[in-house]
Amino acid sequence: MSDTEIRHVISPACDDAEYVREVAEAKRALELWTMEPGFQEKFLAAPEETLAAYGLSIDVLSVRILCVRETALEYQKRPPGDTPRAARRYRGFLQEKIEGRDRMARESCVPKHPAFRAWRSRQLNRCWVELGMKNRSLIHVPMTFELDLGCSVGCPFCGIMAGKLQKVCPYDEENAALWRGILSFAKETVGDAVGDATCYYATEPLDNPDYEKFTDDFFDVFGIVPQLTTAASMRNPERTRKYLLEALKKERRVHRFSVLSLDILHKIFETFTMEELLCVELLPQFAEAPHNMFAKTGRARESELAHVAEDENDTIACASGFIVNMAERSIRLMTPCGSSKEHPTGEYIVAKESFSDLEDFKRVLVSTIDRYMAKELPKDQPLFLRPTVSFEETAEGVEFFRPNKLRLKFRGADDLSPDLYHDVLRKLRGGGKTAYDVVGELMEETGAFPANVFFVLKKFEQAGLFLEPYEIDKKAP
Ligand code: SF4
Repeated sequence: MSDTEIRHVISPACDDAEYVREVAEAKRALELWTMEPGFQEKFLAAPEETLAAYGLSIDVLSVRILCVRETALEYQKRPPGDTPRAARRYRGFLQEKIEGRDRMARESCVPKHPAFRAWRSRQLNRCWVELGMKNRSLIHVPMTFELDLGCSVGCPFCGIMAGKLQKVCPYDEENAALWRGILSFAKETVGDAVGDATCYYATEPLDNPDYEKFTDDFFDVFGIVPQLTTAASMRNPERTRKYLLEALKKERRVHRFSVLSLDILHKIFETFTMEELLCVELLPQFAEAPHNMFAKTGRARESELAHVAEDENDTIACASGFIVNMAERSIRLMTPCGSSKEHPTGEYIVAKESFSDLEDFKRVLVSTIDRYMAKELPKDQPLFLRPTVSFEETAEGVEFFRPNKLRLKFRGADDLSPDLYHDVLRKLRGGGKTAYDVVGELMEETGAFPANVFFVLKKFEQAGLFLEPYEIDKKAP
């Protein structure tokens, strides 16, 4: 952070109470702007009075810059010093959050297991072409956990269509030993990357009365407090407060509350101070919120299906790896994809298997990795470009793309001419040729060097542009 007036507030914590208050007030102003019906109109008509009525002493210009697009654009053109300190400090806070998330996707979520690492990397790269900038918000965590089967909340917008709560995994002697064994084996096999897991997925974390005990063990193994996202923050406010307090004492990170109604928003504001909510993102998930956030996937997609354009393939699935369900004792291997009729929740479920005890968990995990995660695609295996991705030859090389998403460009350089990319692409168009076929045919027809052809094929493979072997199997009649 080059601005000397900007500091970290999440980690390490900032010990300057005034600084924290300034950022917390900016955060509150944005929360009101995005969630409180009528706030925008009141602020625009009488800014000072409105901020004062909500107990905010932040300057009006900072709020305008953070909330009003035209003012933000105007101040982008001016020297940074023209932007008031509160707005700059809030942006520093935002930047800190974004950097933390990007670090997870790029570094900390990378498994140490070589085949798992290669598979995850192909999925992450595939998602750039398939999902575009949406992929930036997906960390592709290699493992995550569910402590229950189903969810008691039943949100009408649930992006992963969680079913009704059927079973809770109690933290009894047997399950505690199994849990600790699973965490240790996951760390040994997949690595520290499992530390970025959450202890919820298609579940509400606070449905489990022993959530705190499970996450204490998690902290013992990984030294990390799993990020909490709860839609039940106000079910037992004292439990939520106590958990947050303890969690933030152990590790500073951002947790999240899904706000399901205006009434819940007001209760959250009454229950927690602005400073207490500094490390809690409030997600506006109710219809009256001026900037409500419903991902167009899962139940929200179903209810809005008529309004979802063909190329709006949303997802909230953030794992390229395993979801371990402790209540059902199952493991599913999945990776994000754009939601569609075939994949309504924006998840591609590759495999699912049950386990009975720790030894069985180990067997299922290892055999699933061995079976589905190729370190590299075999050279004698037929290659099929993803049918969901379009491609075209360009003057520089080739480009892969989906409508309105990013274009992935491969350019010729040095001894790799654009023609080589064109030739390789032409060989792949029909599908079914192996790497050896492509190399052999191009050697004979154009005199291409095998190493160069393999190099191009490898680049396409690493970009996740080829169907995985298990996807080809599913295509077969
Ligand atoms: S969004 Fe979360 S809390 Fe709501 S139903 Fe789905 S899993 Fe449960």
